[in-house]
Amino acid sequence: MIEFAGVTKQYGRGAPAVDDLSLVIPSSQTTVIVGPSGCGKTTTLRMINRMLEPTSGSIIWDDTPLTQIKKTVLRRQMGYVIQSGGLFPHRSVADNISTVPRLIGWDATKIRRRVGELMELTELAPELAARYPAELSGGQQQRVGVARALAADPHVLLMDEPFSAVDPVVRGGLQELVRGLQRDLRKTVVMITHDIDEAISMGDQVAILRRGGTLAQVGTPQELLEFPADDFVTSFVGRDRGYRSLGFTSSAPLRLSGVRTTRRPDAATFADPVIVLDETGRPVAWVDPDRPGGTLPLGVTFDPATDSLRQALDAALSSSFGKAVAVTGESGRYAGVVTADEVMRALAEHRQEVLGRRAEEEDAAQEASAEVGAWAPTSPELEQPDPPAEVEEPAPAAEAVERAQSAGQREAG
Ligand code: ADP
Ligand code: MG
Repeated sequence: MIEFAGVTKQYGRGAPAVDDLSLVIPSSQTTVIVGPSGCGKTTTLRMINRMLEPTSGSIIWDDTPLTQIKKTVLRRQMGYVIQSGGLFPHRSVADNISTVPRLIGWDATKIRRRVGELMELTELAPELAARYPAELSGGQQQRVGVARALAADPHVLLMDEPFSAVDPVVRGGLQELVRGLQRDLRKTVVMITHDIDEAISMGDQVAILRRGGTLAQVGTPQELLEFPADDFVTSFVGRDRGYRSLGFTSSAPLRLSGVRTTRRPDAATFADPVIVLDETGRPVAWVDPDRPGGTLPLGVTFDPATDSLRQALDAALSSSFGKAVAVTGESGRYAGVVTADEVMRALAEHRQEVLGRRAEEEDAAQEASAEVGAWAPTSPELEQPDPPAEVEEPAPAAEAVERAQSAGQREAG
């Protein structure tokens, strides 16, 4: 994990850009740092690969303070993606992607193979390899940026507003790409955005910063939606947070009830709702009570094993009879029905449970801190300055990216 311990960053004599930030970034998960413009997100990210140094406090990677890791070594293990990809405009896609492997001296064959792999991974057609960034769409450029950051297989992927320059549809595709990559690669991803929806859809953990660079709240997306710490977080996560939080709650505990089923709608003459099943037991329609032999659309179904309460609620609200139809797994066989009221009841129960658990955790934490008493350990290790023998070396990947970015900006301006 990467741990920020009381990190403050001040530029010159002004107010701190990041103020006493303590935050644990777990390995192999996606942490999204979100907040309004100017709240210190980029500053925070750049302290992770030591493009910036904290004014005070320390950042520790596993057990080693970052100041004890050579910048070159550190940055080789940290891919860096910025808005618009930050590509070298005068280099081909293949050359952009292979920036770091070339810097660390891979041979040509290995580089070619790796570029091919990365283009496949990021869903870039092979024929794009020889093109220049200006000949690509915004979304393609961003994919090249991701491929380049992953080239030397770093442990950590740092992404600064990677998708904010593309339109919503392309953005959705890029988010899906990174989610898919993350399922397979399990990197420690630290992503920055100003968009709370993106944070909630991408993050295993979301840290909300407020202006002045202080941490407003950190938690899972569900925790932020269900228990915002204060008014700032409440307004930041938005008004429909209750509905959105449904998407993070499993529908498995829903108690299903039954309705009559039939395989022959023409033979069904019941007053109550009846579901028509096909020969394999899959629900296909409702019997229309007003038209003998007629049917009504089934609406969307949900699978309690994999779907959330939000999907169950959608299914209930879109159902002809106000009943969500549950199906089981691969077979898609009829499993039972549930009403919107029952979904809301399950949500209320879930909230009670979580509240109970949180109260218990708080009690336990209070007891633990009472036991520890006034003993406040300070590790001397954390205060050690850089070892004097260490010479600053140029930092290939990140600085190359920086240069490319400023070149791009000059060109644009
Ligand atoms: P964000 O990425 O959240 O928009 P930044 O980390 O870029 O925020 O900036 C945080 C604050 O620090 C802002 O007030 C910004 O003006 C200031 N800042 C950023 N970089 C510098 C710099 N190099 N010199 C002085 N102030 C800076
Ligand atoms: Mg920024």
